[in-house]
Amino acid sequence: MDSNEFRKQAHLMVDWMADYMEQVEDYPVKSQVAPRTIYDQISSDIPKQGQNMDPIFNDFKEIIIPGITHWQNPNFFAYFQANTSPPSILAEMLTATLGIQGMKWETSPAATELEERMMEWLGDGIGIPKQWAGVIQDSASMATLSAILTARERLSKYQINEEGFEGYTKLRVYCSDQTHSSIEKGAKIAGVGKSNVIKIPTNEHLEMRTDLLQQQIESDIKQGYQPLCIVVALGTTGTMAMDPLEEIGMLAEKHNIWLHVDAAYAGAAFLLPEYQSLMKGIEKADSFVFNPHKWLFTNFDCTAYFVKDKKGLLNTFSILPEYLKTASDELVNNYCDWGIPLGRRFRSLKLWFVMRHYGLEGLQKMLRLHIELAKWLEAELKKKPTFEMVVPRSMNLICFRYMPAGVEDQEELNTINEQLLQRLNATGELYLTHTKIDGKYTLRMSIGQTNVAKSHVEKAWETIQKVAEEITRNGKIE
Ligand SMILES: *Cc1c(COP(=O)(O)O)cnc(C)c1O
Repeated sequence: MDSNEFRKQAHLMVDWMADYMEQVEDYPVKSQVAPRTIYDQISSDIPKQGQNMDPIFNDFKEIIIPGITHWQNPNFFAYFQANTSPPSILAEMLTATLGIQGMKWETSPAATELEERMMEWLGDGIGIPKQWAGVIQDSASMATLSAILTARERLSKYQINEEGFEGYTKLRVYCSDQTHSSIEKGAKIAGVGKSNVIKIPTNEHLEMRTDLLQQQIESDIKQGYQPLCIVVALGTTGTMAMDPLEEIGMLAEKHNIWLHVDAAYAGAAFLLPEYQSLMKGIEKADSFVFNPHKWLFTNFDCTAYFVKDKKGLLNTFSILPEYLKTASDELVNNYCDWGIPLGRRFRSLKLWFVMRHYGLEGLQKMLRLHIELAKWLEAELKKKPTFEMVVPRSMNLICFRYMPAGVEDQEELNTINEQLLQRLNATGELYLTHTKIDGKYTLRMSIGQTNVAKSHVEKAWETIQKVAEEITRNGKIE
């Protein structure tokens, strides 16, 4: 493809992109296709002859788009958002064009140095102590795995990396029974073993109980286990519960246990002074992760990972074979030594674009709006006796269920709410997901899409009430 053709195609596609952004609300939020619909439309063989872009782009529109769930539709309230924004998309276009591989400083000094600055901006913004260092990773799962591996190497004085597990077969990782599956996955990959991930029970707010954590650690030590790592969740995936960081931090400090903080979603909101108190005790932690690719308007993938002691991280991951040594190694960061993959995308560019375009105040305004919308919906829900907030609102997450009059049986309520969720998502007008709290089937509504406004939340609330009433009309599930 020559540059003239590229220019022509690129303009066509940018026009399509701008149209898509304008019209994204016209698409069903959740893709409504049946399994194999897309697969069956894609030819089974690699095309023998090349094609020009017209039929390819056409098939993108005809075949691919119907199989897309529109995460950038403001009526997307499911999971946690994976937001984009115009400045982020523009940066991704440039990143793709430059096509660099930023494994080492020398392979593109700007990528490394911009990343260093962006991690400083973010760290300062959310209240990470000044002396810590940050690095961009591809996912919170990968950052958490890095934390467990680094904790493991600190504990064994790098012996496991060198010799294997001899003498270190009784390690333990602690987290609450609400924490994300990535902790268990990380512990499995790190060789700790799933059965050595101890899930500590939570209180009525679904926050980890420090007293039970303490008992568990003390009894484990008596039995010859070596406590390796505690994971504190600031914003659990189910209900956005906040574990008590400072209390747990004191315990970690006392027993010299690695403390990792998983704030994958909620971390963005620590840019707001009114939530800074949740970070109290952060200086007692060893590592912290949050995803700008969730609530902070930066295209997936972009995870911010911060560590107190960058030497521990480097000692765990640095390999430096001869062919990767460069003259500048002492003076600069070579981020391939700061994590698992060697190759690295130029992810700091989109963060730079996003933070400059909105500014701290602009970001704060958007985050505050989302939280205000959640407060509004919480107030509306509380006015209706036929709805229940299953747990109190936390930040921008609402966990509720429908409680039609006269239905007492838990199982029946669960069935009704499962039906409600399926019917809501089948309308294509909005997309919610669920969680289970104390056996209660609970609908989760995360209000945080880049362009969500009051009108979307009002409309969603209307639809929820309407569909709920339809389910129980005539006093039975239809
Ligand atoms: C989303 C999420 C994760 C996983 O994030 P990835 O970047 O997809 O790996 C981990 N922990 C919490 C609390 C999350 O919300």
